[in-house]
Amino acid sequence: MEHTSLRGLAELLKSGRASSRELCQDYLDRIERLNPTLNAFITVDRDRTLAEAAAADHLREQGRAGPLTGVPIAHKDIFCTEGWPTTCASRMLANFVSPYDAHVIERCKAAGLPSLGKTNMDEFAMGSSNETSYFGPVKNPWDPRAVPGGSSGGSAAAVAARLAPAATGTDTGGSIRQPAAFCGITGLKPTYGVVSRYGLVAFASSLDQGGPMAPSAEDCALLMNVIAGFDPRDSTSLERPAEDYTRLLDAPLQGLRIGLPREYFAQGLAADVARAIEAALAEFERLGARSVELSLPNSALSVPVYYVLAPAEASSNLARYDGVRYGYRTPEYADLTEMYEKTRAEGFGAEVKRRILIGTYVLSHGYYDAYYLQAQRVRRLIARDFAAAFTQCDVILGPTAPTTAFDLGAKRDDPIEMYLSDIYTIAVNLAGLPALSIPCGFGADGRPVGLQLIGDYFAEARLLNVAHQYQRATDWHTRQPPALG
Ligand code: GLN
Repeated sequence: MEHTSLRGLAELLKSGRASSRELCQDYLDRIERLNPTLNAFITVDRDRTLAEAAAADHLREQGRAGPLTGVPIAHKDIFCTEGWPTTCASRMLANFVSPYDAHVIERCKAAGLPSLGKTNMDEFAMGSSNETSYFGPVKNPWDPRAVPGGSSGGSAAAVAARLAPAATGTDTGGSIRQPAAFCGITGLKPTYGVVSRYGLVAFASSLDQGGPMAPSAEDCALLMNVIAGFDPRDSTSLERPAEDYTRLLDAPLQGLRIGLPREYFAQGLAADVARAIEAALAEFERLGARSVELSLPNSALSVPVYYVLAPAEASSNLARYDGVRYGYRTPEYADLTEMYEKTRAEGFGAEVKRRILIGTYVLSHGYYDAYYLQAQRVRRLIARDFAAAFTQCDVILGPTAPTTAFDLGAKRDDPIEMYLSDIYTIAVNLAGLPALSIPCGFGADGRPVGLQLIGDYFAEARLLNVAHQYQRATDWHTRQPPALG
């Protein structure tokens, strides 16, 4: 079977040349063959997938199919899924089966998208390399020595290796965009509040946002039509009229003003990544865009601010894993305090513990004002920088990550180095803006380079338009890892 676009797969199903069951069978066979090497999936359940596919085929027979009915998708294992395990790649939830579906999962089910399984990730989405997973690291399909990025590394690797036509991811500080860049696919982090967080295992609630990961911008637009929308069960979900995210795809880029923040092209950006980004910029100029130099003066503060705020929220969110209500409980303990202590000591991995410690520290009496409140103030300044930038340009362009995918193990023992791999993505979450990553070439090591486009609030359709026009003119997004076959 040819691994085509979501539109192509939808056509295939519509024409009757393939059923959803056949399509899913095909992907499941490929998962069975390649997942032992890639480790992109934590859970695969053939029977469950095929039952969901049969239901989609039934909908179609009854004439009740929607635009993507029967097209399969993989879900990051952070989304609660009724009947399937939801582990968040943690020992703490290794045996947890959610009694309900996340809003995003409900939406996918209602649209008739069968699930191919749950994808690997960094534990509780804390990481940039997928190496913090309790279930072991994911390999980058382009080069098994490289990390796939994180935390949505399993979703990115699955899509890149065509183990799934598309996947869901979540992005708290870059976890959709950075793995999309490292694996050569397209990933969109929507405006905060556009995709419901209901049923999404909480990491840092003021930053977490679900979004689509797929080969192309057009695929991501089609998926946004499925997963976006108001949900009263998430108190920060935004009540706005429904949007068709494909509506601007074909608009020409004539006159588009592209902002180039000088801080995104400064020291620290690898020369091969810079070359690919500059070539992409030239392509945009050929398509009618013009560039505007600008500054985001507080962007250097985004990583330190994030590593105060995200751990603060995480330390509070992760307090619920106490061995009492659900999840892991230590088998032996003398009293309640020991049960708490041993459960959390055994259930969480090292990076999660580091975040809980940092978070508890910055929220503690005497430090709260100095760290947490100060970080909130700087967060506001970072958002203002973007507001000023969008008076001068329509979209901001830059690299998604400072380098191509690094080697497995290269940064595992150096948290600060690891944190810096999100230097260009984190400010977007702090401001709540939408942004996407698209493939735009390869580095000197043959690994993919990702280009980031940042938009103003609710500019998803415009970002997808800009990315789609680039993808019509180039073919980076159609390239596939050669060794996999
Ligand atoms: N890499 C960042 C972190 O470790 C961002 C993760 C994310 O977006 N979930 O926190």
